[in-house]
Amino acid sequence: MSQSMHLPVITHSKGELADAFSRRVTYLRVSLTDRCNYRCTYCMPQDRSDLLPRDEILSFEELEQIVRVFASVGVRRVRLTGGEPTVRRDVIKCVERLARIPGIEDVVMTTNGHRLVELAEDLARAGLTGMNISVDTLDPARFRAITRRGDLGSVVAGIKASMDAGIRPLKINVVALKGFNDDEVGTLCDFSWARGIVPRFIEWMPMSDGSLFAPGSLLTAAEIRALVQAHVGRPLEEDAPVAARVVVGPARYWRVKGEPHRKVGIISAMSEHFCDTCNRVRLSATGRLHTCLAHDDDVDLRRIVRGPMAGETKDAAILAAIRGALMGKRMGHEFSTTGCGGPRKHMVTIGG
Ligand code: SAM
Ligand code: SF4
Repeated sequence: MSQSMHLPVITHSKGELADAFSRRVTYLRVSLTDRCNYRCTYCMPQDRSDLLPRDEILSFEELEQIVRVFASVGVRRVRLTGGEPTVRRDVIKCVERLARIPGIEDVVMTTNGHRLVELAEDLARAGLTGMNISVDTLDPARFRAITRRGDLGSVVAGIKASMDAGIRPLKINVVALKGFNDDEVGTLCDFSWARGIVPRFIEWMPMSDGSLFAPGSLLTAAEIRALVQAHVGRPLEEDAPVAARVVVGPARYWRVKGEPHRKVGIISAMSEHFCDTCNRVRLSATGRLHTCLAHDDDVDLRRIVRGPMAGETKDAAILAAIRGALMGKRMGHEFSTTGCGGPRKHMVTIGG
């Protein structure tokens, strides 16, 4: 992508985080673990011999220290992801700690939903303010095939448990795959709308050096919109102006014309990219700061957190490393629809 592309003018005060293209950073995604109880075919390679040794993973104290530094310079939202965040031991305590940090307004989670019957109430009590639950298909056999072991019944029960626990907003994430779930786009919308939930369709991204990606399976944003329109028999109109997305997130929202309660989100990294409004960075479970999902550049914050400095000096060093990393944040991704141009890292290790 050209470095000279047009960027929105974003004003920000001096202390806040911004990259070299004046994109303000207010949102931190945190991978709590590289482990997962599912094995989704588009996310995780079959061979997982590279699982991280436990002592390389940040403790909650270490994570809290890093998040405090982010919060001190304007980060307001933290999303917990994985692998699967709910397989991290004591995840409830983690939510509690992060939700208490001054400045952090939202602690949200992206999960496969498998353990939510057990955890939803405690997560709500701990201060979780929103959740995205991944459901690619409503067919139990297909679900088992794409997740290589998942149980649709547990996830649907987990959605109900999260609603009963009062976790809002709740969204459903669907990776849209031609030849796999394109015939379910309408059904997944109905399933979500019947529960007052917004479904979000995600274009398949070629992570893992493209090794898991099948170009013919990419279902584009335009194709997804056409499938929704055909299903409802009415046109879609954009729900929010582009400017509003600067701080909201990567999804573009659409609503059925004249029916504002029937909304659909589409995350279209591939066919209608949104890099010019990117407001986020990602922290791996080992404390490496990735300023872009789609590139392998990272900066080691754990080295500073575990180093000899103390107190404010350590915080200042963490902040300096964060600012330095942000100066190297790329303008945009280089994904191509053939599967080239993506990073070597696996989605399961960085969490989407
Ligand atoms: N385990 C949790 C889950 O499945 O929701 C959180 C981690 S998962 C990596 C986060 C999101 O990324 C999920 O919605 C998942 O479907 C999506 N995802 C995984 N691999 C992807 C890929 N290659 N392209 C697009 N989305 C992907
Ligand atoms: Fe696990 Fe989520 Fe990746 Fe599926 S998408 S393998 S549930 S991390």
